[in-house]
Amino acid sequence: MADTIADGTIVGGTGESWLLIRGARIFDGEAVRESGSVLARGGRIVEAGSTTFEPPGAELVDGRGRTVLPGLIDCHVHALPGSLEQALAYGVTTMLDMFNVPEVIPELQALAMARADVADVRSAVVGATAPGGHPTQLLKKMGAPDFPTLSGPREADRFVGAQVANGADYIKIVIEDGAGFGLKMPCLSAESVRAVVEAAHRRGKLAVAHAMTRAAFEAAVESGVDGLGHVFIDREPGPDLGARASAAGVFVVPTLSVLEAATGASGSAELAGDPRLSAYLDPNWRAMLGWGSHDFYGHPEPPPRLEHAVLTTRLMHAAGVPILAGTDAPLRTAYGLSMHRELALLVGAGLSPTEALVAATAAPARCFGLADRGRIAPGLRADLLMVDGDPTRDVTATRAIVGVWRGGAPLDREAYRRRVSGAG
Ligand SMILES: [Zn+2]
Repeated sequence: MADTIADGTIVGGTGESWLLIRGARIFDGEAVRESGSVLARGGRIVEAGSTTFEPPGAELVDGRGRTVLPGLIDCHVHALPGSLEQALAYGVTTMLDMFNVPEVIPELQALAMARADVADVRSAVVGATAPGGHPTQLLKKMGAPDFPTLSGPREADRFVGAQVANGADYIKIVIEDGAGFGLKMPCLSAESVRAVVEAAHRRGKLAVAHAMTRAAFEAAVESGVDGLGHVFIDREPGPDLGARASAAGVFVVPTLSVLEAATGASGSAELAGDPRLSAYLDPNWRAMLGWGSHDFYGHPEPPPRLEHAVLTTRLMHAAGVPILAGTDAPLRTAYGLSMHRELALLVGAGLSPTEALVAATAAPARCFGLADRGRIAPGLRADLLMVDGDPTRDVTATRAIVGVWRGGAPLDREAYRRRVSGAG
């Protein structure tokens, strides 16, 4: 685990430090308790419920009128330097990177291991894509270094082995012929996709697919991948897709917040204008919210529609497919910030507020095998978020953040705010 030192000590959690939150509503990642306490020591949760024990010297936190949740897990980002700080300021304690260049990830992992005031990160490192395939066009324009691609199924094993050696926690597979962007692009064959999935599974790694068209999504579901990193926006889902996805045992990260932006809506801009959130937005990432699609993409036919993605999410959820929250930041979404939009969009797609919160906490931990987090339970990391109000009734209450702890260490959000606003 990236942020647990060899002897089991948690970054931020010094051995004897106690944290006691009292009188709060507790959403433990799965269920709600209307009033209770959370006790943590040395960065780990000791008890969640109704402790009367008050350790001398504990950090005491008044939770009345507030809700404590597990720190949020964003299941689809591309982490860049500076991203882990902002994510944590918005209550995201873990980010799952879904494609990156090998140069970036070790530095971020080292940062997450050394400092409690940044989010933790897991990564696929380089995803499998065809030579010249998506997202080589984006990375080239962003000036990223060259990275390996996959020209056929025979290379799959070596490719996956190289990513595991690079530190990949799971394997990303890009199934994109450009149709989703109105472009024509080289794409992995079905044989290559299956070979990558098999190579990942041989190494005990999950395989997660990028697919943004209905055809690619259906192909991914049939290919044996463990999860889908988007839903599609080009067409309506067929009525049996939920049942097929459920039978295949996949999880789905809809990323409605980025699809909303890709189809021209301005949800992220609305977020960036919310005074509860705007003060913590790094100007660099704010600029990415309006990132020009026209520089990179064509005009897909038929025009993409968010409604297709919402309906697909609704069908998947109704069929019992695990839904996980993810933003695709920084692609027209922003680290941490856009999770608060994603949660609202998931509610709009038929999840209850509590189910949307599960999608950002316990469900990602379960699907990605992150056994030490995602719930408030004894022995787990004290990665916590506290908000005013009740997000289990009104999910937008997650925006009213009053406290963030990583490994039991409180984040000084005010210091972060001063830093990004240039006043400190
Ligand atoms: Zn992505």
